[in-house]
Amino acid sequence: MLDLVIRGGQVITPEGVGVRDVGIEGERIAAVALGGTLPTGSARVIDAAGVIVAPGGVEPHAHLAHAIMSHPDEPAATLGPEEDTKGMACGGTTTHVDFAYVRPGGSIQDVVEQRAARWKGNSYIDYTFHITLAGALELKVFEQIPEAIQGGFPSFKVFTTNVLPPHPKRAGNRIDFGRIHLAMEKVAARGGIMVVHGEDEDLVQFNYERFREEGRMGGENLHLVHTKLSELLAFRRTIALARAAGAAVYFVHTSAREGVESIREARALGLPVYGETLHQYACFNAEYYKTPRGFCSHTYPSLKFPEDQAALWDGLVKDGLSTLATDEYPTNLALKLKGKTIEDVTGGNLGAEARMGIAFTEGVGKRGMSLQRFADVTATNAARIMGLYPQKGVIAVGSDADLVLIDPTIRKTLTRDDFHVSDYSPWEGWQVSGWPVMTLLRGKVIAERGKLLGSTADGRLVSRRIDPAVLHRPAC
Ligand SMILES: [Zn+2]
Repeated sequence: MLDLVIRGGQVITPEGVGVRDVGIEGERIAAVALGGTLPTGSARVIDAAGVIVAPGGVEPHAHLAHAIMSHPDEPAATLGPEEDTKGMACGGTTTHVDFAYVRPGGSIQDVVEQRAARWKGNSYIDYTFHITLAGALELKVFEQIPEAIQGGFPSFKVFTTNVLPPHPKRAGNRIDFGRIHLAMEKVAARGGIMVVHGEDEDLVQFNYERFREEGRMGGENLHLVHTKLSELLAFRRTIALARAAGAAVYFVHTSAREGVESIREARALGLPVYGETLHQYACFNAEYYKTPRGFCSHTYPSLKFPEDQAALWDGLVKDGLSTLATDEYPTNLALKLKGKTIEDVTGGNLGAEARMGIAFTEGVGKRGMSLQRFADVTATNAARIMGLYPQKGVIAVGSDADLVLIDPTIRKTLTRDDFHVSDYSPWEGWQVSGWPVMTLLRGKVIAERGKLLGSTADGRLVSRRIDPAVLHRPAC
């Protein structure tokens, strides 16, 4: 017995796009049939004529309830899941992947339990965590990797740089390449994947030193500190190491043409290497730093140049990049704009709510991205790479009924009223064509036309297991 039928929308399925009915029973998709053919019986019917029905968005990169250390003397934190996932729900995202940081002295199990407890009852959408291996970790921590993978947490994040200059009150995130190699060996043996923030530590730190000495401290120079060359060196070093260890790699926030090219070359060799970029990186370049709200669109590494934007779009629309993420790091506007120098501009973004709508407008509307590819880069590929598939990220019988309905006829200039998180959005003033109008999480309508209908009791921790095909060759 169907509980709900989404009737006659343009449905994006793995077999193609066409007018279909989607039948939902309980929390799962029970049927996908030609439009108008599914018997509705006593089921609730939602008319989706003229609307696109896509898999609910999967946000693979969010930092909620996370310490902000760009001003080490005044530590702060990003907004928590109870705030930020309102925006994700209204914007069509139904699952997000946050991070659990293990630092020296800590254990994987402890940090995962702490994060899971923080999220429980506090998220409007489903969630899980990457495990971040940060700093000079004791070798015994690496012995915990197999158990973590077995327990449903198969992705391990590392930073190849500290990102910012050393500060006595700021714990560095960087982990050395020896430990990265050890993690890769453990991960490769047990079905996990490495998630890598790739920048060259020597170049970045030298650039900080040099710019300080030359008095070029303005934040508009961020792209000259966190350079294209730095991305090139780190990506290639990481790929060489991963190849030796037999490990799969997912590069977060690819920002430069050099990054896209490095990923493409590795994939052409058949290596399981995947790239993510951010809608901010694709839509803005470093010139934007010079404008009054320019730092709203900064995250580390940095915005780059128009040629990099072109390469990122090419990778997203055709091939080379697999996912469009946010690096969500929600703060209020005052905190986001507090830093003015290359050493204290607050990184991260407040863009998860806009992610699906911007991807649709800029990708499908302006750059010829197919609807299939739109679903891939906003949901399906992240689900596959992170081990959520086929429970998440696809409209198919047996999958969770996580859906977003997008009205392609909506034309508007975004204003503060279109958003539900914090006191600003970097996307205010942006023109969109097409915008999410309904979000379903496991069969329940959690948002409709900007109105939040779900609750913080709705979100659930999702266990993950990565398909071996994703780990042995470039699968998506
Ligand atoms: Zn991040």
